[in-house]
Amino acid sequence: MEYDKNNIFAKILRKEIPCEVVYGDDQVLFFYDINPQAKVHILGIPKKKVVDFRDFILRLDQSSVQYFFTKIIDVINGLGLDQKGYRLIINNGRDANQEVPHFHIHILAGENLKGIR
Ligand code: 5GP
Repeated sequence: MEYDKNNIFAKILRKEIPCEVVYGDDQVLFFYDINPQAKVHILGIPKKKVVDFRDFILRLDQSSVQYFFTKIIDVINGLGLDQKGYRLIINNGRDANQEVPHFHIHILAGENLKGIR
């Protein structure tokens, strides 16, 4: 699928829409979900224009993929979420109801996640 440069996360990356940043650098951005499904609900995105999981894994070089996943650990550890646990979710495509066509990972935590998502 071709990248839609007007998707919401592209606008967030261009700072056309504000977000509450948890961590950001030249390669990745982590920010709070506007409609949290748990007490802690963070979205992590690579800054490169990748639509979905397949695109992320196959179009980015391995070091970018590894960097992204390492930053997930850093964010989780930085907020102390590793103490009690967390859930990572990637919604991919129509059947998973992926809303935003810029690859992202959900980090859910802060409470027992039974029955959530
Ligand atoms: P998906 O269903 O694509 O995996 O998840 C998209 C997520 O983006 C949803 O959890 C939704 O609440 C979140 N979201 C949609 N628009 C915005 C926005 O403008 N700002 C933030 N922070 N999150 C958003």
